[in-house]
Amino acid sequence: MGNVHELNFLKEKIQGLKDDGVYRKLPVLEGPNEAEIILNGKKVINLSSNNYLGFANHPRLKKASIEAVEKYGVGAGAVRTIVGNMDIHENLEKLLAEFKREEAAFIYQSGFNCNAGTIQAITEKGDLIISDELNHASIIDGTRLSKADKAIFNHSDMDSLEDVLKKNRDKYRNVLIITDGVFSMDGDIAKLPEIVELAEKYEAMTYVDDAHGSGVLGESGRGTVDHFGLHGRVDFSIGTLSKAIGVVGGYVAGSQTMYEWLNHRARPVLFSTSLPPAAVGAITEAVTMLMESTEYTDRLWDNAKYFKAKLGTLGFNTGHSETPITPVIIGDEAKTMEFSRKLLEAGVFVSAIVFPTVPRGTGRVRCMVTAAHTKEQLDRAVAAFEKVGKEMNIL
Ligand code: PMP
Repeated sequence: MGNVHELNFLKEKIQGLKDDGVYRKLPVLEGPNEAEIILNGKKVINLSSNNYLGFANHPRLKKASIEAVEKYGVGAGAVRTIVGNMDIHENLEKLLAEFKREEAAFIYQSGFNCNAGTIQAITEKGDLIISDELNHASIIDGTRLSKADKAIFNHSDMDSLEDVLKKNRDKYRNVLIITDGVFSMDGDIAKLPEIVELAEKYEAMTYVDDAHGSGVLGESGRGTVDHFGLHGRVDFSIGTLSKAIGVVGGYVAGSQTMYEWLNHRARPVLFSTSLPPAAVGAITEAVTMLMESTEYTDRLWDNAKYFKAKLGTLGFNTGHSETPITPVIIGDEAKTMEFSRKLLEAGVFVSAIVFPTVPRGTGRVRCMVTAAHTKEQLDRAVAAFEKVGKEMNIL
């Protein structure tokens, strides 16, 4: 027997990753995450970030962040329930509630924490959670932390959802239907109006994770609920502060009752230090900017439509995305990886997404266009796609 402290059991697993060709080294950015980045020492066009609005390095957010640090310091000093609850945390929650047109909003240190904390706090034994099969990992983990029973419905398949509801509704006290608002690998939008109708028919609660819809869909980026005009009909509306908002954090918007309960039972908030002032200052500025004008979301959509149309004209398969998330579907896993590698050589960083993140044979590079890209950068990226696509006989 080897010495357990040498972690041989992990070394074997790591070797397994290498054997399967999935062991990876992380790309290193030397500088801010923006439309063009210095990656591993080389300047490239960035088509891989979730920085939808270009806020991650925006001068107004940086200024607000510095001001918050000057006034409040670099750390909140404690969990919120002890002495880490600053006025800027509460003001941000009020602003987010106003932005989302809900009674209240409750912030977490990340979108992941928000799902992990909220789902387990609002469900218990005797309840049922029904989740779309393509929901994000943090929803899966939040669901695992709950003592409720779990069921899955086929992706965006309303017959499948209704089947689960019909067979199970009477057996449970509360039923919670969870869906992503925008699905991150294909860019399709949840069928929220139909989900809400089924929820109302079967007296179930609804929970939408709008990580990729917040700052993107609806008026000034108010999200999927706003996009469909469903205010007041979705019980829990989750947003992340780490993607379009450009900083870090997450929140759930909903009723005052929800807020009061989470204040007492959301474990990542009860047992982990609250968001640092630098983050809160920048987030507050970002939400204020969105409420002031549609300039950033308009530019995002303009760029996304421009880029998608150009790729489509060249003959690439961009799937059935309805949002700025633009998959370019290649199919074969190895070919997808090679396509991404060659694009990087040609000056464009776009990550390859393959099995097990997406089904086998549907490998793709996932392009994330942002408001910060110039048309010139997008044209250069399209030219690289054309060159590599022709070289590899994809076009
Ligand atoms: N939900 C979804 C649907 C996501 O895509 C992500 C981020 N990958 C998260 C939650 C987690 O958000 P965060 O990065 O703020 O933790």
